[in-house]
Amino acid sequence: MEEILTGKEGERHFLLGNEAIVRGALEAGVDIAALYPGTPMSEIGDVFHALARSLRDKGEEPSFYFEWSANEKVSLDECIAASLSGLRALCPMKAQGFNVASDSFLDYLTACNLVETDIKGGLVFICADDPGGTSSVNEQDDRYISIIADVPMLEPSNCQEMKDMTAKAFDIAEEIHLPIFLRTVNTVNLSRGDLVFGKLGVPRRKGEIKGVPLSFDRTRCHANILKKMEKAKELSEKSEYNRVIKFDGAKTGKKIGVVASSISISYAEEIIRELGVETELLALGFTNPLPEKLCKDFIGRFDELVIVEELSPFLETQFLKMAHEISARARIWGKETGHFPRAGQYRLETVAEPLARVFGVDNPIPRLEGPEIAVAARSLTNCPGCPHRNTYYAIKQIVPEDAIFANDQGCYLLGGLEPYKMSHAQYSMGASIGLACGFHQATDKPAIAYIGDSTFFHNGMSPLANAVHHNYDITVVVMDNGATAMSGFQMHPGTDRDAMCREAIPIKIEDVARGLGATFVEVVNPNNIEEAKDVFKRAIAHSGVSVVVSKALCRLMDTREKRRQGLEIPAYKVDQEKCDQCKICIDVYACPAFYEAAGKIYIDDIQCTGCGVCQGICPVGAIIELGAENG
Ligand code: SF4
Ligand code: SF4
Repeated sequence: MEEILTGKEGERHFLLGNEAIVRGALEAGVDIAALYPGTPMSEIGDVFHALARSLRDKGEEPSFYFEWSANEKVSLDECIAASLSGLRALCPMKAQGFNVASDSFLDYLTACNLVETDIKGGLVFICADDPGGTSSVNEQDDRYISIIADVPMLEPSNCQEMKDMTAKAFDIAEEIHLPIFLRTVNTVNLSRGDLVFGKLGVPRRKGEIKGVPLSFDRTRCHANILKKMEKAKELSEKSEYNRVIKFDGAKTGKKIGVVASSISISYAEEIIRELGVETELLALGFTNPLPEKLCKDFIGRFDELVIVEELSPFLETQFLKMAHEISARARIWGKETGHFPRAGQYRLETVAEPLARVFGVDNPIPRLEGPEIAVAARSLTNCPGCPHRNTYYAIKQIVPEDAIFANDQGCYLLGGLEPYKMSHAQYSMGASIGLACGFHQATDKPAIAYIGDSTFFHNGMSPLANAVHHNYDITVVVMDNGATAMSGFQMHPGTDRDAMCREAIPIKIEDVARGLGATFVEVVNPNNIEEAKDVFKRAIAHSGVSVVVSKALCRLMDTREKRRQGLEIPAYKVDQEKCDQCKICIDVYACPAFYEAAGKIYIDDIQCTGCGVCQGICPVGAIIELGAENG
């Protein structure tokens, strides 16, 4: 990773798309980067953090400031301020993070944009979409943000472009005095590629703000933005990221062209080569505003056009409009004609079949057919030794049957699955507490909200204030495992170090809850199941808002730290003489380290993290620590 900071101009390196973004930002001389982690873009922050740590370990001061912000809106507001002060700022977020930051992103331009040059430092806003929703709650297509907000958009299709476009975006931002929206997709963020480095830039470090550019004349501000977008259109028209790629091959009798953006450019290029047909591909990387002249010229030269893009018909709709405007003869094939799906992540197969159909040639990637491969059935669950499992287990033992559960975004949402099934709804950061209030108001049943430590700081405090203020009879369980664990153990306001590896002030969730007026606030270690059951029982019986901070370090972090300190991790096994095969450990407690073979229950010593909690849940004491058998 060091090469991201030390690599020289012209060198080639094999980087992850997210790492390439960091190099691009450093080549642009970025001053400030701030973000809240979230797959598929967390590594951008992880790299900044690792570089800061490495420099500080050597006694050097990083040239940039990096922050894990409490949420995406906070990170964007800081970056906007840096940009208004003349510094270069990078603000990446995942697609759903934009929903949190949208208030600022959609408002600040008209509020701070009275004169031509109010926005001085380049602000590059990255939104990482997740087609397929592998690590998100939806498949949001954020390209439309660029149209709603009237900001230029760049879409990299490979790792080289991830770096180059990031660096270039700062220049464009400062040339036209608008933020640049770099829209990426999971497949490019998380793929590796060979790329050539450029020269590292020199940060400005200190900004200044002169005058007060605020205006309440929103119409004038909006008109000013539209004027800047006209300039962006000129840049798009001559951008190197909008280009026509020609393919020699067999003539098909009709003139067929292909249009693609983002990762679909790579898919289309590969499939066209496989098809072996003569055609042209309009590869679009500067996609808002589209290069209208280039596009219309392209449309006019073909009998048929195929539009290849993941998710919504963003390009297709605009191409249909442009074709209509020039009365083009070209028929346009895409999502509207049913050739391509609107849902799901594209693969080569998704693109191969419709392209082969339109070109009238054989599909080069027929569906793979082969023998069924037996794969062991595995359900989604928390890691072996995860304290969240213990929280769920303890609550499940004592909770009234009619209780309603609201869950939030983090590893703990897996408590909604078998065997715990303790989530009636979960969808966005911080929603659990409002949901619990709503469920209680609607049904009068006991309502329990599950929320993580990072999520609590992200968006949980205002709903808690609302719950206390309205005296809702709910229980809020904050599952505090000491980090933003699901996205890679990043720091948050409850940790004692910040992203620049400096001492930070750790904020205690229990203090916040008390400060917000909750009258029942207790901290419990969920790994002590009996104690946890008692606390949860009293919390649920409490009238009004009760808050339990269920606090135990993420088992992965705990084990890693113990190994680092050279401490022994205990191992456990099932005493077959005592075990009566009740399967509580598998069916009710559900630690994935347990398994059944030939009617007997075993612990997989590779998976077991040695937490020892299962000893307390086995009713006959059949789980023993290795080495303690004779003790
Ligand atoms: S809970 Fe104990 S007795 Fe029951 S199956 Fe597991 S190890 Fe055996
Ligand atoms: S000690 Fe028991 S509960 Fe903990 S990880 Fe091992 S098998 Fe699972």
